[in-house]
Amino acid sequence: MANKANITPSPRLSAEETMDFYETEPVDIAVIGGGPAGYSSAINGRTRGRSVVILSGDYRDSYLYKASVIDNMPGMPGKSGAELLDLFHAHAEQMGAVSIKGQALVVMPFDFGSSKTGAKPGFQIAYGSHILMARAVILSTGVAVTSMYPGEENFLGRGVSYCATCDGMLYRGRPVAVIARSKDAIEEAVHLTKIGCSVTLFINPADLRRWGLTVPENTFEHVLHASAFRIEGDDFVTALTTENETLPVAGVFILRASIAMQSLLSGLTMEKNYILTDRTQATNIPGVFAAGDCTGKPLQVAKSLGEGLVAALSADAYLSSLESGSETPGKEARV
Ligand SMILES: Cc1cc2nc3c(=O)[nH]c(=O)nc-3n(C[C@H](O)[C@H](O)[C@H](O)COP(=O)(O)OP(=O)(O)OC[C@H]3O[C@@H](n4cnc5c(N)ncnc54)[C@H](O)[C@@H]3O)c2cc1C
Repeated sequence: MANKANITPSPRLSAEETMDFYETEPVDIAVIGGGPAGYSSAINGRTRGRSVVILSGDYRDSYLYKASVIDNMPGMPGKSGAELLDLFHAHAEQMGAVSIKGQALVVMPFDFGSSKTGAKPGFQIAYGSHILMARAVILSTGVAVTSMYPGEENFLGRGVSYCATCDGMLYRGRPVAVIARSKDAIEEAVHLTKIGCSVTLFINPADLRRWGLTVPENTFEHVLHASAFRIEGDDFVTALTTENETLPVAGVFILRASIAMQSLLSGLTMEKNYILTDRTQATNIPGVFAAGDCTGKPLQVAKSLGEGLVAALSADAYLSSLESGSETPGKEARV
């Protein structure tokens, strides 16, 4: 295995090799979200010589990718959203940032140090059934989910899950509900049936048409549509109530394209559903920076690109202060 100190992820290192490598060794900067802010963060993190991994869903699934024209990008009039994103993505890869496809589920502070080395602060990021280790994190997840279902936060980890691949086995042989709010949710729900869960799938027919998908026949216990959900239980989940009925279930899988910030990173300070940052894009959690639409209005590409640049430079300054043994790591990176 390569020595972490010498490794510079480049196109020579495949996404699979990157996943394996950074499951045990921390990358300098993990960028969560592959949009304009994420790609700008990645490019500028690389200009500072930092190793960078971008963890994201497929950037071609984003709303921006479908926008026919983005007319206010200086010097690039008339480009479509797809053209811009293809350029940003290619530039980040060319600079040596590595993209991993996946949805970050939880970001947890983690100390990589030992009694010999002393504290080495960093983060563990759970995605699918994998972990990405990082020394600093840039959140660039776009506009976040603004509301959770009643009971969702309370039962998270006690019957509520955001990942069928990771948690499915816990519910083997038991009735579960899947609330499908993302394109890959049907695939995840099918996975649950394959490992022996009896699955009720809640899906909106309008979403199905938008995604160009159909629900496989004779696979699910029930396929239903509802718009209001309440998760109930005592110590663990026992039921899911909709506007139409109450369904006894042991687990509820809520599969969205984005994760509510409150559950992605505990303790992150928010303001009106946006991540609160200072002018250096630092959040209230040392080592965590944020850029783009997730930090607030105006929700625009150029603002996301600028904040991505600032977040990357601040993450680099934070890492430098850790490396120099500064007593207050990252102080100079924050206002
Ligand atoms: C139809 C349309 C037209 C627009 N027109 C313009 C325009 O003309 N000019 C302009 O300036 N702006 C325009 N915008 C706004 C612009 O698209 C946004 O401001 C910009 O995309 C924000 O960039 P971002 O990187 O912050 O977030 P996004 O572009 O939203 O990217 C966020 C990425 O993070 C990923 N992600 C989210 N959560 C997670 C997670 N937990 N784990 C991993 N990945 C995650 C998402 O899948 C997504 O790929 C338009 C938007 C739309 C929808």
